[in-house]
Amino acid sequence: MNGMRDLDSLLHTHFGHAAFRPAQAPVVDAALAGADLLAVMPTGAGKSLCFQLPAVVLPGVSLVVSPLISLMKDQVDELVRRGIGAAALHSMQTAEERRDTIAAVRAGAVKLLYVAPERLASSHFISILRDLPVSRFVVDEAHCVSEWGHDFRPDYRRLAPAADACRRSDGQPGRPPVLAFTATATPEVRDDIVRLLGLQAPQVFVSGFDRPNIELHVRPVSGDREKRDLLPQLVGRRRALVYASTRKSSEDAAETLIAAGLAAAAYHAGLSDAERTRVQEAFADGSLTVVCATNAFGMGIDRPDLEVVVHKDIPGSLEAYYQEVGRVGRDGRQAVATLLWNYADVKTREFLIERRSEEDADTVEPLDPEELQHRTELERKKLRRMVSYADASGCLRNTILRYFGDPAAGADCQTCGNCQRRTTLHPDQLLHVRKILSGIARGGERWGRRKIAAMLTGQLDDLPPALTALSTTGLLREHDPRIVEKWIDALEGAGAVASSPDMYRTVRLTTLGREVMAGRVETLDLLVPSVTVKRAKSGRKAPKAARDRGDVVAEAEPDGGLVDALKHWRRAEASRRNMPPYVILHDKTIAALAAVRPRSAEALLDVPGLGPAKVAQYGDAILQVLGQSAAHAGD
Ligand code: ADP
Repeated sequence: MNGMRDLDSLLHTHFGHAAFRPAQAPVVDAALAGADLLAVMPTGAGKSLCFQLPAVVLPGVSLVVSPLISLMKDQVDELVRRGIGAAALHSMQTAEERRDTIAAVRAGAVKLLYVAPERLASSHFISILRDLPVSRFVVDEAHCVSEWGHDFRPDYRRLAPAADACRRSDGQPGRPPVLAFTATATPEVRDDIVRLLGLQAPQVFVSGFDRPNIELHVRPVSGDREKRDLLPQLVGRRRALVYASTRKSSEDAAETLIAAGLAAAAYHAGLSDAERTRVQEAFADGSLTVVCATNAFGMGIDRPDLEVVVHKDIPGSLEAYYQEVGRVGRDGRQAVATLLWNYADVKTREFLIERRSEEDADTVEPLDPEELQHRTELERKKLRRMVSYADASGCLRNTILRYFGDPAAGADCQTCGNCQRRTTLHPDQLLHVRKILSGIARGGERWGRRKIAAMLTGQLDDLPPALTALSTTGLLREHDPRIVEKWIDALEGAGAVASSPDMYRTVRLTTLGREVMAGRVETLDLLVPSVTVKRAKSGRKAPKAARDRGDVVAEAEPDGGLVDALKHWRRAEASRRNMPPYVILHDKTIAALAAVRPRSAEALLDVPGLGPAKVAQYGDAILQVLGQSAAHAGD
């Protein structure tokens, strides 16, 4: 009790703060108690105080390893300004300056000695350490020890032996306690920190990853076309970052936005220094409102007033994703983060992982193959975690907070896309869902969602024989198979269906799914794919309102077989009339016909590219081709 009040007054007298922040107090307590610890606190949370205050209170000097000379200088200046003995040792100093500093430490005038990690490579410095009374061995930016982190520094691997070389200021045997701090650490990086810094029975603190002013969304999309359609709406007139997985994809995004009249530019490692500077400056002065960066290269782009971040392609890890998301809304304003989610993008990511591992195996100093394999596996694992976020059924915010081990994870946030869109099914929807679940069950629970959807909607062409004659084959004949797939996704989200973890992603029913199918469970909450199927005019955009609501928009796409049949007819007609095929019908018109499947001369007139003259000339023939094809499909 008393001790606590003492600490408060020390906090006030030395640092001028009225109280500890909630995340600080337990870390300071553990540091003072002499534990090894790892504290994961986001930037700005007040990490420094957690080792500075103990350093002031404890006898001896605290060593603080810090990777950036500029940060070191800032902290030393600030401490000295507050009347606290602090100094730094780094390569930018003369030998004399360093000698003076060490003399001051020996004389007991320094409570915090900041050192660059490369200092600890010097055996001379290590021998000096052996004589210093060290209270705590502090490692700032501790993730630098891990190759899985984004900022690996080989010198950090020398820290554990350096700490072992230190003499404790309290006269006890053994090395001084080691305190590790970082702003970012996935579970893997955390394990590395503990292992590679040699932390003993460490207390681990994780705090404050929540960014309540950022609204999280995952938007399933069917492909690049839908991404291009969505991008300008998601960005709007707001200041935004768009992240992409490749240079080409970032350029594609910029082109799309420019075409929509927005001031956008691509930003990636393929630009010249001059171009890059130009983009940075234009973004800083506001003449550019959107930057489309590759995940690997978004770092130089920074403004506190960003309102939107869109990930056009899935990033490689949830850690990278959340870090990029964290760049918006830093001034506290409401911000929106949207991940455009298409399973096909995972393939691109897998390819990038593969390629990197091949490159690394093929360098002058190749990594140890075992190490390389270990790393490749870890990257795959990270990617799978990212995918499970994209596929998450529950609250997106909680999914992230749980991943970072943040104790703030708890009740659903009610603001993320998943929380907003979850609804209780009404009876018609429940019936629809039961049909889908039955289809999965009848199929023997060993097919992917595409086959199941094709079977249910009676698209027999690509079906394996086992699925062509089930009692559920064609049960949802009226429905679009792609939307049925979305329902299967939604059912997975609601926990009624589960996918196999392999690449085939076959779907099976969970216990909940069986209960719902059997009618024993009558209520189901899920993200209804509120679908607008556009079947009237091909090529026209779905209603804006539907898109604004965040609905899944599926436009009718041309049926490939029908396109072929129509082209076959066109070729025959063209050679008969001795005319080029496109004069008879444009490819676009053929695509529209194959999507819309008109059944009368009147309906043909609705198809772009078909006027009364063409309908009079070819209408019957076209309808015949369409009719034959429909008969084939058993429609
Ligand atoms: P980090 O290293 O976690 O990014 P800092 O240690 O630089 O963050 O602290 C961020 C800011 O918060 C600093 O300006 C610091 O003075 C301030 N700060 C730290 N602890 C407190 C506190 N208990 N009360 C008020 N301000 C604090």
